[in-house]
Amino acid sequence: MTKLIISSSKFQSAIVDLLPCNNGSKSRLTHSLIDTYGLLQYFDHVVMTPFASKDELLNFHTIEYLNVILDEKLNKRKVEDETYIDNWNYLNQVGIEWLEENKPNESKSFELQANFQDDNDNTIQSTNEIDQYFNSIETLYKYYSYIAKGHKATVKNYNTTSNKKRTSWEALLDELSDDSMENSTDSANDNSSNNSSDTSSEDSNDDSGVDLNDNSSDRLSSKNATQKHEIDSYKATVINDIVDFDVVKLKQYNLVGDCPIFSFLPMYCHVLGGSTLRLLDHIDFNEKQICINWDGGRHHSRKKKASGFCYVNDIVLCIQKLGEKGFRKITYLDFDLHHGDGVEKSFQYSKHIQTISVHLFEPGFFPCTGSLEETKHGFNIVNIPTLHGLDDNYLTYLLNRVIIPLIKKHKPECLVVQCGGDGLIGDRYKEWQMTISGLTKNIMLVLQNFPECSVVLLGGGGYNERVMSRFHTFLTWKVVQTFSSKGSTLLDQFESDYHEEHSTKQNNDTTTMDSANTQSPFSNNMSDILIPEHEFSDFYGEELCRFWAYELPASQYFKQLHNDNIPNYIDKLVKFYNL
Ligand SMILES: [Zn+2]
Repeated sequence: MTKLIISSSKFQSAIVDLLPCNNGSKSRLTHSLIDTYGLLQYFDHVVMTPFASKDELLNFHTIEYLNVILDEKLNKRKVEDETYIDNWNYLNQVGIEWLEENKPNESKSFELQANFQDDNDNTIQSTNEIDQYFNSIETLYKYYSYIAKGHKATVKNYNTTSNKKRTSWEALLDELSDDSMENSTDSANDNSSNNSSDTSSEDSNDDSGVDLNDNSSDRLSSKNATQKHEIDSYKATVINDIVDFDVVKLKQYNLVGDCPIFSFLPMYCHVLGGSTLRLLDHIDFNEKQICINWDGGRHHSRKKKASGFCYVNDIVLCIQKLGEKGFRKITYLDFDLHHGDGVEKSFQYSKHIQTISVHLFEPGFFPCTGSLEETKHGFNIVNIPTLHGLDDNYLTYLLNRVIIPLIKKHKPECLVVQCGGDGLIGDRYKEWQMTISGLTKNIMLVLQNFPECSVVLLGGGGYNERVMSRFHTFLTWKVVQTFSSKGSTLLDQFESDYHEEHSTKQNNDTTTMDSANTQSPFSNNMSDILIPEHEFSDFYGEELCRFWAYELPASQYFKQLHNDNIPNYIDKLVKFYNL
């Protein structure tokens, strides 16, 4: 039996979409599409309100770096980029309006009641009104403050509830309105370990041994801050003064260029870190699990600096925590277009952690690392540098002849897979030409070759948010189809739910229905099927709402690139890695 766990919610997505490169929409489109297809109900646990404490982030990152990116002042800083925040607000507005029109009962604001205890164990009752879509960042922050206060993530166990399809929002509210809201205020509780001995220092002069003595004063001050924190103290008005940061310091932490300091960065980092770490609260060494967090996979981030849109390295934190859970041998596999440098570097000298990255390696292409030569400097490092034009079939050859045999040699107990999608057709990089169905098939090929291994599937790059929402939804569906403990009957139910929904719609509105709409979007017959109507349908546009818009050869969005990768190269790799 395989246990399925996912971290996905409107709460998580609204916060993750504050990351500038998400175009204010990547995570929300993905969550909403997964929810639209009713896939969340096939998971044993759904993490709804992720949060990672500063102490947990300290297991990899340095205190000096965290003190900058977690500076609470940033959570109240005025958003400077009006255009960017307009996009963020616009997406919420679209969702709210769609719900008001289509599901008026669900569109109202909720009176949210939560009980929690203060630091002297006195029960405090607090009431706040929350809108479904967090129609302003202030509302979102207010809600986040609840989570930060009682930071044990709320989790929905869908398997023990009825099979009735519930929206993630309903589940979230249920969690918060009953006594399942846990009252932990001590963020240090579950942090018995410091830096994993498995992680190597990035630089020789790096303060890799961030010791507890060093943290203790910070931990105390963080506790004091928590004590002072009043849930209702946050005012909807943001502080207008700009927080001053030393430019030299910002450069030192690379918080410039691709990785700017942005408003609500601390909220983003706590939630992003938690979205991966809280999955592991449910993992058990003796049982097979598949954990999913499409917002994770921030593979470039280093101990003490941000890099390539990555501020917190949830992958390294995840691998460390898996080690604490008893997994000794772990393989990290990275499908992102870019080299997984942050993860590779962290486990460069680990004998237990194998890191494998397939990536574009051409002069000047970020991060300019990931050569074959580099694999000689450390243990268990596998780089598969490739050229422009990589396609599905070439990746399959690479997997069958090089990658899977190398993983078999390592004999891992757990796989951590970074499923970035910036190599897909339709991505703005236009470097590789993998299809959603092809990349999914290749990822599933890996999973099926290691049936005993637990798996953590994380997201990554991908800069066409509509393509990414389709890719991660399709991959989620494939995982559910293949591994759901509910078995194939529930898959039939998923399919029939889809048909039922559409036949009801068809009865109500026969004029707009296209016959293609009545097919399951995921049938093996990959015809040109439309994404079902939901709150963000408009974002897919008249042409783009076709699920396979970018990969059907007849589609105007399908563009074939020349594949510069030659078959002989694979033979060379086989020889290089002594296979
Ligand atoms: Zn990338």
